[in-house]
Amino acid sequence: MTYRAWFQCINPQCGATYPLNTIVYQCTRCNSLLEVRHDLEELKRRDAKGWKELFEARYKSNHWPYGSGVWAKKEWVLPEIKDDNIVSLFEGGTNLFWAERFGKIVGVDDLWIKLCGNTHSGSFKDLGMTVLVSQVKQMISEGAPIKAVACASTGDTSAALATYCAAAGIPSIVLLPRGKISTAQLVQPLSSGALVLNLDTDFDGCMRLVQEITKDETIYLANSMNSLRVEGQQTVGIEIVQQFDWEAPQVIIIPGGNLGNVSALGKGLIMMRDLGLIDKLPRIVVAQAEQANPLYRAYLRNFDFFEPMQAGKTLASAIQIGNPVSYAKAVRTLQQLNGIVEQAGEEELADAAALGDRTGMFNCPHTGVALAVLIKLLKAGKIDKSERVVVISTAHGLKFVEMKVKYHQKELGFPCRYANQPIDLPARLDAVKDALKRALEDKSRFDLSS
Ligand SMILES: *Cc1c(COP(=O)(O)O)cnc(C)c1O
Ligand SMILES: [Zn+2]
Repeated sequence: MTYRAWFQCINPQCGATYPLNTIVYQCTRCNSLLEVRHDLEELKRRDAKGWKELFEARYKSNHWPYGSGVWAKKEWVLPEIKDDNIVSLFEGGTNLFWAERFGKIVGVDDLWIKLCGNTHSGSFKDLGMTVLVSQVKQMISEGAPIKAVACASTGDTSAALATYCAAAGIPSIVLLPRGKISTAQLVQPLSSGALVLNLDTDFDGCMRLVQEITKDETIYLANSMNSLRVEGQQTVGIEIVQQFDWEAPQVIIIPGGNLGNVSALGKGLIMMRDLGLIDKLPRIVVAQAEQANPLYRAYLRNFDFFEPMQAGKTLASAIQIGNPVSYAKAVRTLQQLNGIVEQAGEEELADAAALGDRTGMFNCPHTGVALAVLIKLLKAGKIDKSERVVVISTAHGLKFVEMKVKYHQKELGFPCRYANQPIDLPARLDAVKDALKRALEDKSRFDLSS
């Protein structure tokens, strides 16, 4: 079978198409975003049962490259890539676990966490970057004049790009907002040998500049404006459904900044529906930080119009974005999947992340935003106690220890109700026994119910 995919303008009045090996990020006719489209008629020649069996057989297998969560779905992602050009670090296939204790505390029985941070560079960005860098490798092998791949980043895109480019031997350039990313996120591209440009601006400022420098075709753009990224990230929704034995959950909550990931999530789920693997789509909830909430504001206006904003400082630094590139795609996704947008303030997100940690998670602040939004929507009756809810955890908590340290030291300007501090003691048995006695008598110490 000959599966095919191409770029297509998302503006239905235009619909211009471009081959995937064209260096193009926006429609050259009308400036709208592009998306990767697949030949669904060809894909339908294998029935839903056939696809499920194929994906099951490949799941985490040792048959390269199909053991990757992304390349397991190669025909739905990038069918025309040669295996020799695939740059994979065995991304995806991340764990989905039942958050029983957290769910009990906040009042939902069937709560699951999809831990996208348990992957090579520590965030879901790996899912998109394996696809983008593989396509670049293929284009270079065909003679394209690409010298380097570049991105603007709030820290995780740059880490993923630098890692995959290092694996492929392709130079990478990352534009970062100085002082606005974590130490771990800065040291990742440095370690990978990327050219790291630390700029005195915010993410939106870096994004404007990277669009300028990538007008030169020898520098290829790796932001999610490039829809190849979205194509890899769409596998997360498919994988969640697969992990529930091909049953879609009722609600999926995802933190959103530049809004590529929510668009990707929706795209994968719709593809599953169109190819008959599921018959009902879940509801999607986008969780935004109050400090950077342009989608939430537009949602309150029924998406009548969009207004970019100056993003304020938020602990959820990877979503500190005021002018999201994929706004139009995200709105389409929310309309197709009966979506909700909700926001969380700094104290809410930090406490929700910390409460989650107390129940066995180890959350990044963005996952904190999603958990805080879950709590709010349960209280408001917009999510029912009996629904199966999945929270997408977007990055590994270890990338954000500065924030966690400040929380536990109560240095964030609010009470930090789940803060926990080490007890400094002399190394003497009586002192240790005394401390144990006091701690174990303090009933509130291990109790989260209040
Ligand atoms: C990139 C990122 C997001 C936001 O994803 P978008 O596609 O920009 O909406 C959320 N959380 C983390 C940890 C990220 O790295
Ligand atoms: Zn167009």
